[in-house]
Amino acid sequence: MLSYQHSYHAGNHADMLKHAVLARIIGRLKAKDKPFSYIDTHAGSGVYRLDDERLAKTGEAEGGLERILGAESVPEGLEDWISLLRDRAENLEYPGSPEQVRRLSRPGDRLELMELHPAEYENLRQRMSGDARVHVHKRDGFAGLLALSPPDPRRGLCLMDPSYELAEDWVKPAEAIAAAGRRWPVGILALWYPVVGRRESELADLRDRVAGAGIPGTLLAELHVSPPTGGAEGFGMTGSGMIVARAPWKLDEDVARILGWLRPLLAGEGGFTRQEWLVPPP
Ligand code: SAM
Repeated sequence: MLSYQHSYHAGNHADMLKHAVLARIIGRLKAKDKPFSYIDTHAGSGVYRLDDERLAKTGEAEGGLERILGAESVPEGLEDWISLLRDRAENLEYPGSPEQVRRLSRPGDRLELMELHPAEYENLRQRMSGDARVHVHKRDGFAGLLALSPPDPRRGLCLMDPSYELAEDWVKPAEAIAAAGRRWPVGILALWYPVVGRRESELADLRDRVAGAGIPGTLLAELHVSPPTGGAEGFGMTGSGMIVARAPWKLDEDVARILGWLRPLLAGEGGFTRQEWLVPPP
C-alpha cells in the first residue's frame, strides 16, 4: 500500500536540486536538433497546488521554491526553467517532473510516465490528456523502464524518483540502472535519493551498487542543507542527491554551477555540497 504523497513536499530543497539537474539534462538533449524520449518511472501527479493545506503543514516550499524564486541571479542554461517556475507560481502551482519536461520539450519529443498510486495516477492522466506526445502508464516504474527500453526515439533520459517508502526502493534503482544500461545503451539514467541519517547504510550501499554497474560517466551531486544527523536518531532529510549515469557532455560543469548557486540560497550553517564521478567518463 503506497501512502507517500508528493503534495506534502512539492517545491522543497530536494525538488530544487532534482529539477534543476533535470532541466539541464533536457537542455543538453535539446542542443541537438533530434527528438528525445523521456521516461519518468515515479511521475507523481504532475502538478501541485502551492496553497494546498498539506504543503502548508510542512512549510517545505519555503526552504526551496520560495528562495529560488527570489534569487537575484540564475545559472547559465536555467533561464527557461526559472521562467516556467515563476509563471506557474503566479497560478499557485508547482509543476512536478513530468509537467516540467512536458513544458520544456519540443513537438517531436516523447514522454512515457509511470505512476502506481491510484489518485496520483488519475491526476496525472487528467493533466496530460490532450498531449499526444505523452503516454501515462499505471504500472511499476522499475518494471516499466525495462519493458520500454530502448524507447523510440532512442536518445533520451530516464528519471527514477522513488518515494523510498519500501526497503526495496534502496535496492531496485541500482538494479534498474544496470539492466536498463544494457538494454538502452545510449540512455541517460538519473536517480534521485534522500539523505536521511537513519538510512546512512542503505544510502552507502546504493551509491556502491550504482558505481558497481560501471556505466562510464556516472556523476553524483549532493546538496546537504544541514549537517548530517546521527544514525538511528536521524529522522529528518538533511539533504538529497542525484546520480546521473551516462551524464551528457559538460553536465559536470552544469552541476557545479547548480550546486554553487543552490548552496547559499538553500543551505544553512553546516550545509555542504558533494560532487564526484562514481565512474569516470569514457
Ligand atoms: N517525480 C515526481 C516529481 O519530481 O515531481 C515526484 C514523484 S514522488 C517522489 C514518487 C511517486 O512514486 C509517488 O507518487 C508514488 O505514488 C510513486 N510510486 C511509488 N512506488 C512506485 C512504483 N514502484 N512505480 C511507480 N510509481 C511509484
